[in-house]
Parts: sequence; structure tokens; C-alpha cells
Amino acid sequence: MSAAIEAWLASEQAEFVARHPRSQALFAAGEQHFLYGAPLHWMRRWAGGFPLYAAAARGARLWCADGFEYVDFCLGDTGAMCGHAAAPVTTAVARQLADGATSMLPTAESGWVGEELARRFGLPYWGFTTSATDANRAAIRIARMVTGREAVLVFNGCYHGSVEEAHVGLAPGGQVAMRSGVHPNAVDHARVSRVVEFNDPAALESALAPRDVALVLAEPCMTNYGMIEAQPGFLAQLRELTRRTGTLLLYDETHTWSAGPGGYTGRDRLDPDLFSIGKAIGGGVPVGLYGVSAAVAERLWQQAPRESVRPGVRQSSHFGFGGTLAGSALQVAAVRAVLEQVLTAASFARMIALASELAHRARAIVAAAGLPWFIAQSGARVEPMFTPSAPRTASELARWRDPQLETLLHLHMLNRGVLITPFHSMLLVCPDTDAADVERFLTELAAFAARLAATRPS
Ligand code: PMP
Repeated sequence: MSAAIEAWLASEQAEFVARHPRSQALFAAGEQHFLYGAPLHWMRRWAGGFPLYAAAARGARLWCADGFEYVDFCLGDTGAMCGHAAAPVTTAVARQLADGATSMLPTAESGWVGEELARRFGLPYWGFTTSATDANRAAIRIARMVTGREAVLVFNGCYHGSVEEAHVGLAPGGQVAMRSGVHPNAVDHARVSRVVEFNDPAALESALAPRDVALVLAEPCMTNYGMIEAQPGFLAQLRELTRRTGTLLLYDETHTWSAGPGGYTGRDRLDPDLFSIGKAIGGGVPVGLYGVSAAVAERLWQQAPRESVRPGVRQSSHFGFGGTLAGSALQVAAVRAVLEQVLTAASFARMIALASELAHRARAIVAAAGLPWFIAQSGARVEPMFTPSAPRTASELARWRDPQLETLLHLHMLNRGVLITPFHSMLLVCPDTDAADVERFLTELAAFAARLAATRPS
């Protein structure tokens, strides 16, 4: 790091500390009783050394405990893609809380929700969980039940929640290793996981050839290591290779839902065997959902028959997925409000148009400053990356990662009232984001880019 960048980082850091005495004190108190200071260890991932404590959030705005207002492009790392405190969700959830949140009984509204999920994403059968992580775990279990195979294949650089099988990456020699940042435990990942690079059909073909992989767990566009789009034809090859080898294919659209009302699966008529989603679909209520094709459902019912539920015969199975609070009245009410009133086709059209403008103008800004950055866009999601062109694999992207520069960009934005996702630099547009919010980010990006260009040795 050059001395000038180091000095710049130190001054932004000092400003962050000076502006946020209350958040700093709250974090110091949190360290007394939370393992990693905040209620969730990831909350420490923000630049600045301690997280802002949130006082309130509405729409695309958030206020911190020290009284500053922020334009929020992080949106809870997609959990708040509906916009904070979306009125239809607040109303529906408050009503349902008053009528009973959870009873181990279905509510009438669930019928509408099932139909809408099938209509949007194309898979006919669904189950609720309490997180996307848990939806992926359920899907892995189902895949193992119906294929009798153990291994799960993921792409290098993936993230699918705290799912043991997906906590892996590629070691330099091509072996299965722990994903960077994940701490090892006693699990034998080389046995339960396979990893190949995204956009590498030859590696995928040889990994699936032994026919011992139950499931390929994938995002249709990788979003958790920067943003990596599938090369033309790759998803078709993935579908063909999985079919040919009797491997099931799951698309996890927890993030990529930002591509449109039906995510990539609905938009591009992808045809996965299984599907998972979480975060935004509950509008802030913890919800995960997994979808299953008719063929997978038929195979599942051979082992865990649905016919056992008939008058006078009680189902006795422990299926190994789902949970006590899954499918609760509260979750169902929240999902209905989100699908019917918040993340509608019209909302997606607006969000995507605004994100397109953001991406387009951000490209012009970095080009004018002479910075060789690539600005990726996937629907309502935009991501500046320090790569000269669109990355095809996580390894390619890793070569361009620059943690100091990333921290500097984040601190610059934090100190000027803009939140971007702390794990890399994702910006998400929600139904409440407006042109002025986009302008605010672009103004700060232009200031940052100009200063960086002037600071860097040419
Ligand atoms: N799938 C994907 C693609 C994700 O990005 C994440 C979280 N970032 C998850 C699953 C897990 O979501 P959760 O932590 O809400 O279970």
C-alpha cells in the first residue's frame, strides 16, 4: 500500500471513530456478552472496526445511533430488498401477530402463496424453512434421499449459507479446501464436497463423471465473491451434464432474485430440479423456501409417501427437514405481502431500470478517472470490482481483490452517508430507492475515483 493511501485510510478511519462515539460504546458493551461483540459475527465485517448501531430504517434510508442518515444500498445484504419497513409487510405481519404467529397448523393464505411460488419460479412443490441456509440443507437432504449419493458439488467462490458441504473452495492444486475465511472443523470435506470453477464445463464434466454427486448447488450468477455471470451456454451445459450423470441441479436464488420477479429461473426459463430462496422473500421475517420439481417429488414420495396422510392414518415420519417455526402463519402472511404487494413485476421493472442507470453512470465515472474497474449488474444488483473485465471464475477475480482499497471505498462511503454491502461492494436497489439516492452514491463515487486517480502512482 502506498504511503498516500495509508494516510488516506487512517484519516477516514479517524473520522469514522470521531463521528460514531455511541456506536463505538455500544460495541464495547456488546463485547461483554456476545461472542464476537455484535449479535451476529458478520456485523463486525463493516469497515471502521466496529459496526454502526442502527436506530431505525425505512425504505432505502437508515439512521444510526449517532444520528446520521444513510442511503442504504446494502439493504441487509439482500434481507431488506423489499425496502426497510415496507408498509404492506408491516401491516400483514402485525395483523398476523395479533391473530397468532405460529400454531403447527396451516393457514388459508398458504394456498395463494404456493400457487404464486409455482407461477413465478416454475417448480410445482414447495416447503418452508426459517432461512435460506436451512432451505439448502433441506434440499441437500432430499437430493441425497432420492439419489442415494452423498457428494455435493459447488463452484469455487460460492456461498450458500452455513451449509457444511458448501464451505469449500479450490486449493491451488485443484483439491477441495476450506473456503477462505471459513474455519475448519472435523468434517471431511474432501469426501462430502466437490468444487470446480464456475464457467468451466470440462472440469464440471470430469467431476460429475464418477456419478457419485447427489446435487450441484449453484447460483445462476455468482454473487458472493464479487459478481460472476455465467458465460453464454454454460448454464445449458450445466443442465445437460447434470441430467446425463443423474445428478440433481439446484439453483439458489436467494440473491439472484434481484434479476426479476421469477429470478433467473423464471426469466430465462431455467429448469432446475430443486430451488431455494430466502432473505427478501420474508420481507424481514426469517423465511427460507425450497422448491422441488414434479420428478423429484415423485421420487421423494416413494420413500416418504404423502399418501400416508389420510383420514385415520397419522404421518409418523421424521423427514429430517423443516422446523417448528417453518410454514408458520407469520411467515406465510409475510411472504404473501411481499409477493402480492412489494416485489411485484412493476417494482422489479423500476428497480432494474434504476440499477441500470446507476451501473451505466458508474462506468462512465470510473472510465473518466482512468480506473480499470469493471461494474457488473444483475437486475437490481450492481457491483464495482477492481478487475479490468468481466471475471469468469473466482480465481480470476481473486487476483484483483484489493482489501485495503475495498476498505477505503467502504469507509469513504460510510463517512459520507452511503452504505454498501460490507463483504465485497454490492449495491442493491429496492422499490424505495430513488434517483436522488443513486445521485448521492454517484457523487461520492466520482469524488473517490478522482482522489484515487490523483493519489495513485501512475
Ligand atoms: N444462499 C445465498 C446465495 C446467500 O448469499 C446466502 C447468504 N448470504 C444464503 C444462501 C444464506 O442465507 P441465510 O444466511 O439467510 O440463511
